[in-house]
Amino acid sequence: MKPFDIVIVGGGGAGLYAAMEAMKTNPSLNIAVLSKVYPNRSHTSAAQGGANAALGNTAKDDTIEMHIFDTIKGSDYLADQDAVDVLCSEAPKIIRELENIGTPWSRLEDNTIAQRPFGGAGRPRCCYCADKTGHTILQTLYEQCLRKGVIFFNEYFALKLSVNGSRSRGLLAMNMKTGKVEAFPAKTVIFATGGYAKMYWNRSSNAAGNTGDGQAIAYRAGIPMKDMEFVQFHPTGLRKSGLLVTEGARGEGGFLINKDGERFMARYAKEKMELGPRDLVSRSIETEILEGRGFDSPAGKYIHLDLTHLGADLIKARLPQIREMSLNFEGVDPIEEPIPVRPTAHYSMGGIDTDNFGRTIMEGVYAAGECACVSVHGANRLGGNSLLDILVFGRIAGRTAAEEAGKFEPGTISEAELKDSVDDLRSRMQPSGHYERYGALREELGQTLALNVGIFREASLVKKGINDISELQDRFKKVRVFDSSDVFNTNLMQVLELQNMLDLAETVAAGALAREESRGSHTRIDFPVRDDEKWHKHTLATRINGKISAGEKPVTMGRYELQERTY
Ligand SMILES: Cc1cc2nc3c(=O)[nH]c(=O)nc-3n(C[C@H](O)[C@H](O)[C@H](O)COP(=O)(O)OP(=O)(O)OC[C@H]3O[C@@H](n4cnc5c(N)ncnc54)[C@H](O)[C@@H]3O)c2cc1C
Repeated sequence: MKPFDIVIVGGGGAGLYAAMEAMKTNPSLNIAVLSKVYPNRSHTSAAQGGANAALGNTAKDDTIEMHIFDTIKGSDYLADQDAVDVLCSEAPKIIRELENIGTPWSRLEDNTIAQRPFGGAGRPRCCYCADKTGHTILQTLYEQCLRKGVIFFNEYFALKLSVNGSRSRGLLAMNMKTGKVEAFPAKTVIFATGGYAKMYWNRSSNAAGNTGDGQAIAYRAGIPMKDMEFVQFHPTGLRKSGLLVTEGARGEGGFLINKDGERFMARYAKEKMELGPRDLVSRSIETEILEGRGFDSPAGKYIHLDLTHLGADLIKARLPQIREMSLNFEGVDPIEEPIPVRPTAHYSMGGIDTDNFGRTIMEGVYAAGECACVSVHGANRLGGNSLLDILVFGRIAGRTAAEEAGKFEPGTISEAELKDSVDDLRSRMQPSGHYERYGALREELGQTLALNVGIFREASLVKKGINDISELQDRFKKVRVFDSSDVFNTNLMQVLELQNMLDLAETVAAGALAREESRGSHTRIDFPVRDDEKWHKHTLATRINGKISAGEKPVTMGRYELQERTY
């Protein structure tokens, strides 16, 4: 294949914005987007609640500075303040740019873009399209990319970076329709492969494909992962499936109620109540359940999210998808009854270490979106800030790669390297002797993570998690693919995804053990206090000679000093 100027892995919001911006920056570039799912089925399409921007439409006195402060405080002071400045200052521009290219934002009476309250935010600043915000953004971006001539390789599964010393030559990927491994030589590669919270399996709100593939590929190529211990649990997942009930439901006025009929958030966040930040609300729900004030059911313990007082009209107009999901997956109509919910692994704050321009330490390799860690979310992301992150930093990474592609030689990937990749896949497809099935391992990985590296952590628990992961990695060597077909071999893809999750799980658990403090989403019951002296820093995990190696990086401070974080 002829070398590309830019190969973007991922067709979610980050990947598509990067592609659109790269085309705009230099229309003569040859740009490809690879995606294992059809782009508008990426997880971005599941985002319900909205994207933050201090437009000052709903609350006239909102400012960009308030958005910056809320984000830094929300991050428990671990976000890099220069990166947060970029995120929040670009926000109003990006919302308007999306409007100009066709995103149908919900509106106020005066026809300006409507904004709803979201957790941890001092003003209502979350812009939305009913409860289908991600879906509408993704459709808009996909149309624009097609219009601008971006070349799509849909249903291609990225396998490996081709590396030459300190730089990349491009990428190897499998065409899922034929099972063939193909080489994508490229001057630059942008990873935009989304998050890794699906490693918590059925305690996760994520799409089945959010298995951290891009991070695992980068990790195996020697690129550091940053702050991997920070996994966000969203307070309200549906009890049985972990599927998400948007924070918008509480933004619109929903209550959290325990089995004694109490609005228990009064105990934990007197002022903000249900609209406290996610880490705090999730811990509060888990505490209620652990202390016996949750409801019990064969599908597990839970508490109630009550929307009944909002009335049928509001629920139908602003939360139609939530109603549909509650009916389909819990058999509950939120107009009539409360929804059974429990915290669910939702978002990966950690990811591929990048600078504010999306660059990684490897020349010509960039990352943006949930797979990257810039870091703007630090130890806890605020609702509505991730859609914003993928748009702002997707755009920046696309522009940077377009400007820098000319600096690099076109990559060449040798036949020998291609053959190695094919052989590697083939070797998995020959069942013989004792074998393991991927399904059992995937389930066990999810269980050990939820139990030992979940909302509440402790040295002995995390050590147990690390042992379990290492045993699962050993057992993985015996996992075989039983489907021998070349055409859409989903069994093979699930095995590859499991390998990626196992590689990354080791970095999540190692970070969780190392960080002896409680900060944001990372709560150590044996170290309950934030320890700024020792731990006000980012952790790095790099794979060197097949082994994980720990490092660190300072947090970039700015106008805001460290403060106690109360709501
Ligand atoms: C249910 C839910 C609701 C959410 N609601 C909100 C919200 O209201 N507001 C907010 O700010 N955030 C929200 N978030 C978070 C936000 O939606 C995500 O963080 C964001 O959309 C991620 O975008 P992305 O472009 O980085 O990745 P994704 O949209 O996940 O896209 C990843 C892309 O990478 C591709 N890919 C992955 N692996 C491979 C591979 N091996 N080979 C080829 N392609 C690959 C996939 O095909 C896909 O196209 C929500 C998340 C969830 C799960």
